[in-house]
Amino acid sequence: MNEDDLQTRIDSIYARIDAACARAGRDPMSVQLVAVSKTFPPEIIDEARNCGLSLFGENRVQEALAKSQLCGRADWHLIGPLQRNKIRHALQLFSCIHSIDNVRLIEQLAVACDESGVCPDILLEVNVAGEASKHGFTPASVREGIKAAIDGGLRVVGLMTVPPWTPDPEGSRKYFRQLRELRDALEQEFSISLPELSMGMSGDFEVAIEEGATFVRVGTALFGVRKAKKWAPQSTGLTTDEFSRSLDTDDFV
Ligand SMILES: *Cc1c(COP(=O)(O)O)cnc(C)c1O
Repeated sequence: MNEDDLQTRIDSIYARIDAACARAGRDPMSVQLVAVSKTFPPEIIDEARNCGLSLFGENRVQEALAKSQLCGRADWHLIGPLQRNKIRHALQLFSCIHSIDNVRLIEQLAVACDESGVCPDILLEVNVAGEASKHGFTPASVREGIKAAIDGGLRVVGLMTVPPWTPDPEGSRKYFRQLRELRDALEQEFSISLPELSMGMSGDFEVAIEEGATFVRVGTALFGVRKAKKWAPQSTGLTTDEFSRSLDTDDFV
């Protein structure tokens, strides 16, 4: 893909975001595009930066750390599951974690934030449809998550969801609406503000915006179909060991 193609895709996504906002009577500035760059190499991320994108979403901590060292300045959000043994590494990079999905993780994140003095914004992931294969709090158990986050002094700014896959974007609407209603209820119950709703991907981000999304996470519609499961540091020509050292980490695999 050349840079002109990428620019065209970006322009088209922004036009669709603007149109969805217009339909919903929302300010386009209230929606942030998270460019999901997982599996794509740092060169593509730099192209996207040249085209004006600055916020990237990644689902693997090490992959993101490695790539961030190889491309220019950007804002990085974690959108994939965070394992507890990667918390320390995640704090080195991510300004926001969308995928906080259990209370023990929240407790350990609170300790790590306290120790390091670095504290990202967090969103709690909710498995709205109750799918067995998905991460996330149930709509009932997310209350415990909010409570743990508040008790731990974490900055919980909203909720995130990945609805069941459907070929028709309208199929996602009821799940997006449920997430927004859950957010409204939690704001009341805890007397807190939860301004962010991270919902909507390439196939359904316009419906998500109509239902209140403030972060849309778009990968395929920007970068094309992902061919690899992950991007590995080996593609740089450095050995894994050299990468480990360059990142000052000890559990690179
Ligand atoms: C990969 C991923 C996306 C992007 O999906 P596309 O359909 O490629 O836009 C969004 N959110 C999460 C959590 C993801 O893992």
